[in-house]
Amino acid sequence: FSKESGQKIVIYNNKLNQAIRIEADILRRLKSSIHNKTLEVWYQPLSKLSADSYTSLEALVRLPDGKGGYHSAALVISLAERSGMVELLGDYVLKRACCFMYSHGKELGLERICINLSVQQLLVENSADHLLRLIQESGVATSQVTLEITESILIQSIERASATLDTLRRAGLHIALDDFGVGYSSLNYLSNLPVDVIKIDRSLTQQILTNPKQHALLKSIVEMAKINSLSVVAEGVETEEEQKMISASGVQYIQGYYYARPMPEKELISFFNGIEKN
Ligand code: C2E
Ligand code: CA
Ligand code: CA
Ligand code: CA
Repeated sequence: FSKESGQKIVIYNNKLNQAIRIEADILRRLKSSIHNKTLEVWYQPLSKLSADSYTSLEALVRLPDGKGGYHSAALVISLAERSGMVELLGDYVLKRACCFMYSHGKELGLERICINLSVQQLLVENSADHLLRLIQESGVATSQVTLEITESILIQSIERASATLDTLRRAGLHIALDDFGVGYSSLNYLSNLPVDVIKIDRSLTQQILTNPKQHALLKSIVEMAKINSLSVVAEGVETEEEQKMISASGVQYIQGYYYARPMPEKELISFFNGIEKN
């Protein structure tokens, strides 16, 4: 009961209050921005090493915070998942990203648009039909779309999700295992999973230069992927040193600030136009 501990409780309450206010703000803004179609989708290029060019984009949601910035995408998604809004949000991003691909894919030389999918979107009834219909309505071919699903969460519900994933893959979509290499990833199950791509998480990529064990792990993942005909994307590459070491490890694609940050539509188009001129 010291004065000090009393103070600590006050600070804690203030922080909690602030967190609750931010969450309420996110939900309010999310609802209205989906309704008014002002919710933004930004795009980050993926570099295809063999082509020495950007052949795909990852779509990332951006919710304006009303103060000139954006709320954290990870927080927006986790709140949307907890409040039953993630299907609405997911449909919005999917439509937006596919329409962008339809309008600009050819001129930008893009092969694929990669879109994050919450596992809840996968587990609702008739999800495959629903997703395929949205893609078809946008005009893009299913072979131009990759859906990214977080590894740890997918593994937890793989029994319920695998029939849906099979349907989507038979229709021509690619499925990417996102955030691979975090926690208890197992190389053994890679041969049995209905996926086409592995995305190595930044937490692993970042350790390659300094930690020989992690470097060896990356090499084994690449080997395992080859055996199973999966392609590998390394995420979160920020420096030239990392880029060199990771390019040499056999991955096919690199995504990270070293190449480009996520950008709004217009900026992305000028970015691609800038490359052509060089
Ligand atoms: P993610 O799918 O792993 O996306 C990659 C995240 O890493 C993005 O964060 C991207 O901006 C960031 N990033 C890319 N390169 C670098 C780098 O070199 N260094 C660092 N430090 N970061 C890098 P962002 O946009 O904040 O998104 C966070 C997460 O929110 C995403 O992680 C994804 O799980 C989720 N998310 C974003 N948009 C959507 C969406 O439309 N639907 C769903 N379901 N989830 C989404
Ligand atoms: Ca992703
Ligand atoms: Ca990721
Ligand atoms: Ca992630």
